[in-house]
Amino acid sequence: MLIRLEPGAEAAALRGRVARLLPGATVRAGQGVLRVATRRPERLADALPRLESLPGVASAEPTLAEACPRASRAKAPSLRAFRKDGPILIAGPCSLEDGKSYLAAARRLKAAGATALRAGVFKPRSSPYAFPGLGEKAFPILREARRETGLPLVSEVLSERQLETVLPFVDMVQIGARNMRNYELLKAAAAAGLPVLLKRAPGATLKDWLLCAEYLLRYGDGAVVLCERGDSYSGSAARGLDLAMIRAAVAATGLPVIADPSHANGERARVPGQALAALRAGAAGLLIEACADPVAALVDGRHTISLDDFGALAGRI
Ligand code: PEP
Ligand code: MN
Repeated sequence: MLIRLEPGAEAAALRGRVARLLPGATVRAGQGVLRVATRRPERLADALPRLESLPGVASAEPTLAEACPRASRAKAPSLRAFRKDGPILIAGPCSLEDGKSYLAAARRLKAAGATALRAGVFKPRSSPYAFPGLGEKAFPILREARRETGLPLVSEVLSERQLETVLPFVDMVQIGARNMRNYELLKAAAAAGLPVLLKRAPGATLKDWLLCAEYLLRYGDGAVVLCERGDSYSGSAARGLDLAMIRAAVAATGLPVIADPSHANGERARVPGQALAALRAGAAGLLIEACADPVAALVDGRHTISLDDFGALAGRI
């Protein structure tokens, strides 16, 4: 960690005070800076507010590896159930709407190359009046989809209560962009033992995102999958995937980084091109909204691709 000092501050004098706040760390004084090396980077977090407020300290910024030691060192979990030979392809409608259409789509998505199914039953909505998902009524449909297709199911939860109820029916828990920083939910999802898909919130930096992954790794031993989904919550304002963010995340951690070109673009025509661009940028997979009749979908139809278009995309992948 590099601590920058204010002009005129005495590095030698501050060195001792910093060292006392960080037992076990080595602190070296340089020209206008202090360099801190520690074998216990997780201890920096507690000391940081006090370091930052020492008179003469201008800033104290741990490196990414110091702020997120587990995420930085993490190796790729196997996730064998979620992929065949190639990328993880999680596809399905935004939300389950009814059993018949979901099961028909699930069969066709499997045949087209999906390796897991989107299985949204609790949906976050920007408006509290919009369709919130079928909720617990959909659990028998999830059971049937898993039985018929043999594919693993990925489902979003917004609360610890929803997490508890949906757990027996799904294979991966999705933490949506709106809940990336819901630390209690992250802890509960980590403890549940299933792999967790963690979306990046719009505007979140790589460090913000990996700090949230760090919660999942600190409070559980399950697999974590990162998902880039662009920088807007609103379909019409969506400006696409942050491909540089995908590359930076792939370089910073061994955790798989996948991409959601659907919510990132808000327009179905842009989805296939962005899906391929994400894979070229190093993404280990995709999360895609696809259903039989996107125009009639209750929500997010505008960026949902048809089952035929999903088949064509999977063929190119
Ligand atoms: C979703 O994938 O269903 C979703 C709501 O996306 P996000 O959390 O990225 O907005
Ligand atoms: Mn959606």
